[in-house]
Amino acid sequence: MTLISCPECKKKISSRSALCSYCGFQFGEVSEEDLDLFRARKLRDQIYRLNMISYAVITLFVCAFGWYWMDSRGFSEPSSSGPFILMGLTAVAYVAVRALLFRSRQRRKAMQQKRNISRDLRRNL
Ligand SMILES: [Zn+2]
Repeated sequence: MTLISCPECKKKISSRSALCSYCGFQFGEVSEEDLDLFRARKLRDQIYRLNMISYAVITLFVCAFGWYWMDSRGFSEPSSSGPFILMGLTAVAYVAVRALLFRSRQRRKAMQQKRNISRDLRRNL
């Protein structure tokens, strides 16, 4: 197996593959299996990224809470609206990221099921 450069993103890929696993560029006959593999990898990267974003959002929320604590001098005085706005925004962002994560995980599950079905079909042939 030799490595060639993808014509699109210039990353090193296997010469036997007809599909760049990094950018999805197709050059030649692409098998369904290649495409599935590419989609699975993209999905895995997306889930990883979304997880990282959700941790960042949680950190921001904790910071906003710390800001609220400082601003209200240990919850003894009324705080400015800044911390509340930031807490509200991060809460909304968190829900949105979790929703995206849920959808990606559903898609991954569907993909794995599809892969199992095609494996079963091949076994029965
Ligand atoms: Zn590429």
